[in-house]
Amino acid sequence: MDSNVEGIEQSVSTGTLPGWEQVDARVIASLERNRACTDGAVADYIPVLAQADPELFGVCVVEVDGGLHVAGDSEVEFSIQSISKAFVYALVCEEYGHAAVADMVGVNNTGLAFNSVIAIELNEGHPMNPMVNAGALATTALMPGAAPDEQWAAIQAGLSAFAGRDLVLDEEVYQSEAATNTRNRAIARLLESYGRINRDPLEVVDLYTKQCSLLVSARDLAIMGATLADGGVNPVTGERVVSADVCRDTLAILAANGLYERSGEWLFEIGLPGKSGVSGGLLTISPGKAGIGTFSPRLDPAGNSVRGQQATAYLSRVLGLNIFASQAVASSQNRGS
Ligand code: GLU
Repeated sequence: MDSNVEGIEQSVSTGTLPGWEQVDARVIASLERNRACTDGAVADYIPVLAQADPELFGVCVVEVDGGLHVAGDSEVEFSIQSISKAFVYALVCEEYGHAAVADMVGVNNTGLAFNSVIAIELNEGHPMNPMVNAGALATTALMPGAAPDEQWAAIQAGLSAFAGRDLVLDEEVYQSEAATNTRNRAIARLLESYGRINRDPLEVVDLYTKQCSLLVSARDLAIMGATLADGGVNPVTGERVVSADVCRDTLAILAANGLYERSGEWLFEIGLPGKSGVSGGLLTISPGKAGIGTFSPRLDPAGNSVRGQQATAYLSRVLGLNIFASQAVASSQNRGS
């Protein structure tokens, strides 16, 4: 698409959250009002994920000034899984820029499952977007570094900068997924056959499996999200991680593709960019305001945390976060009469 916006001066629309105490109370309420829900099922296609305690439930909101609100199991660690895709995309976008990554990896939703092979075939080998496995593998392959070790160091350091602490790999999750990820290996080979991966495809799958095995908590996700909400500056550490333009691009990709094939429903109900992962994490970004991280392992059939979506839907409404919501300008002065 030629959007014809080169060189145009940009302005940013933000707004503010309600006061600190109100946000705090509502974060706790988001957990309490959804705690009893037992809908959904814990993922088991990666064997170790089936061991997750389905009762765990944590919610965290981090404001762009670094203010932190927590409820429940917000410090419990779990593997980041697909949510890593958002941040690896941001790091790659920082390196190559808006147009190049859009061209190489794509931005459009497939409407199909995250690990769909037919989506690749239907699109003549194009990986479509960085939030499905095909696009994530193509994106991970683009990480700078002469060898996989260097690429891994850059991924680990980059995601750690988003979180504001050193994130470590869960060896058990990594081994469990590495032993069973035949489908991802097939996807990488298929991409190679279409000339969409120019590194060793199995090394790319290994790197991707490692990035998915990094341990985070709901609190980490909220800080990582707050960094994307804050024009790329981590509000807790003050470090600039990526540019504001990269944040804007990342959030657009998340809005279109972040909740698997239910991204449209998510946008309709919550009205914010988000990204879920099969271990039960959910990241949501309210641009210019806050990052929201939730953790609850029971998933809907597409792979999205059920209680995480409920808690975030509540917060979106009570904190006035939906980016599509507006109110009529009441004053007649403002209408020029
Ligand atoms: N590592 C998982 C996979 O590739 C991530 C899936 C997800 O969280 O969507 O199958």
